[in-house]
Amino acid sequence: MAAYTSLPQPAQRLEALRGRLLDIGYWTPEQIADKRWNIGCVALEITQRCNLDCTFCYLADTSEAVKGVPLLEVFRRIEMICRHYGENTDVQVTGGDPTLRKLIQIVQRIAQYGIRASLFTNGIRATRALLAALCEAELTYRTEVSAPENVVAFPRRRLY
Ligand code: SF4
Repeated sequence: MAAYTSLPQPAQRLEALRGRLLDIGYWTPEQIADKRWNIGCVALEITQRCNLDCTFCYLADTSEAVKGVPLLEVFRRIEMICRHYGENTDVQVTGGDPTLRKLIQIVQRIAQYGIRASLFTNGIRATRALLAALCEAELTYRTEVSAPENVVAFPRRRLY
């Protein structure tokens, strides 16, 4: 128990972290360590369609019946996110599987507003070419892949 009493104060720990990141050349103005935002992350669902059909998915039985939100409406929502929460907000582009839509255009639009796109995909269509194009389009944050082998249930089938 006594070991915990000697920890530096939070501000000092953050200073040490910043120093380390600077030392190894990993500090950038976009670095989120030590920053506070008014919101953690906004999920932007751009489709309910998916190329997998996982047993546990809350979308699986109905996703193919739901029409995609028009691209102009997706753009309107991106603008609204920026207006509400400001630059540097993290926006998780999600679905369904977002790679089934015009993802490059959507990520480019997000970057234009100075907000930061991350991607939540099952990875089926995450080819090297797509990932390279997404980097070009300033997918600035991270890509999370919820590949079937990494989750607790298996897909019933692959749809396409
Ligand atoms: S990959 Fe995700 S969105 Fe697609 S069916 Fe599975 S859980 Fe649902």
